[in-house]
Amino acid sequence: MSECSVRIEKDGGIIVSNSVVIDGHGDVPTRVRVVTHVHSDHTVNLASSVRSSYRIFGTHITLSWLPVLGYSIGSSMSLSYGSRVKVGDIYVELVKSHHIPGTAQVLVESERGCRVLYSSDFKKPGVGTPIVEADTLVVDAVYGRPSYVREFDDVIEVLLVDLVRQLLSEGSVYIYGYYGKINEVMELLRSGGIDAPFVLPPKVYMMTKKVESLGSRVGDYLLAGSREAEEVMRDGWYVYLDHTTRAQRRVPRGTNSVVLSGWEFEKPVRKLTTRTWHVAFSDHSDFRGLIYYVTQVRPSRVYVVKARSNGAEEFAAYLTKKLGIREVTVV
Ligand SMILES: [Zn+2]
Repeated sequence: MSECSVRIEKDGGIIVSNSVVIDGHGDVPTRVRVVTHVHSDHTVNLASSVRSSYRIFGTHITLSWLPVLGYSIGSSMSLSYGSRVKVGDIYVELVKSHHIPGTAQVLVESERGCRVLYSSDFKKPGVGTPIVEADTLVVDAVYGRPSYVREFDDVIEVLLVDLVRQLLSEGSVYIYGYYGKINEVMELLRSGGIDAPFVLPPKVYMMTKKVESLGSRVGDYLLAGSREAEEVMRDGWYVYLDHTTRAQRRVPRGTNSVVLSGWEFEKPVRKLTTRTWHVAFSDHSDFRGLIYYVTQVRPSRVYVVKARSNGAEEFAAYLTKKLGIREVTVV
């Protein structure tokens, strides 16, 4: 089987077969850039790609969220999971990933038979994140050290919903997380039977409108500052969801706050102050999930992208020594 060429740029951009660049900027003659999802470490130098008239490929949700988050995207093409599009000499396919809404793995295949897979961000490999086999795997070792293990990952969703339900019995709840994760949590709360109205600041509100227009059911949600939202807030029974950088701001007296964090390995739920809780809700597989993913992809060559990894060298060493993968490169 022939090999597709892979080059990783300094900004984390992945160039495959000199035909597409993924999640960073780089020179490719076809001028196609794939954005796997809207998190800022995957949209680096997007403005450069747009300025150079690159066509932006992404899922429907990703392409509709990018402008809400302030990116201009120029010419774009939305791809559904599983559909293939020809770019130069290769085919590009987006594969579903369980991370934030719209996230995709990228499979590049050539007519000569080589297959390159970029994992992007994911959790629940083999369950929410389908796994495809590829000769070459490009992976971000977000939790690349063997100590980055969360024993409670399987129950964290239930614990979060239970905590919010319990706190709602005392009054309103403020939840803080990254863009996209907030939408995942909203879905989780609704499927867990929480029907309190959501109050959302403008960006989150707009993002939610977009996912709803693409078929997601979000239930009752209101724009913070609107008359309806003010009324609901006076009643004192609602869930306010905002970006994690706003977690330090003052909240109304007597309300509880929940801060979502991926960097907690000891305890799933930790009480920080009388009314603040830390919940170890991550959108990434831990170390064991990453290793499982790699074993199922069955690659003969692996690139670990340093720009988006924590413990890239340790992860690479593990792949070589424990999994016996001979060609492992940290770039
Ligand atoms: Zn991400």
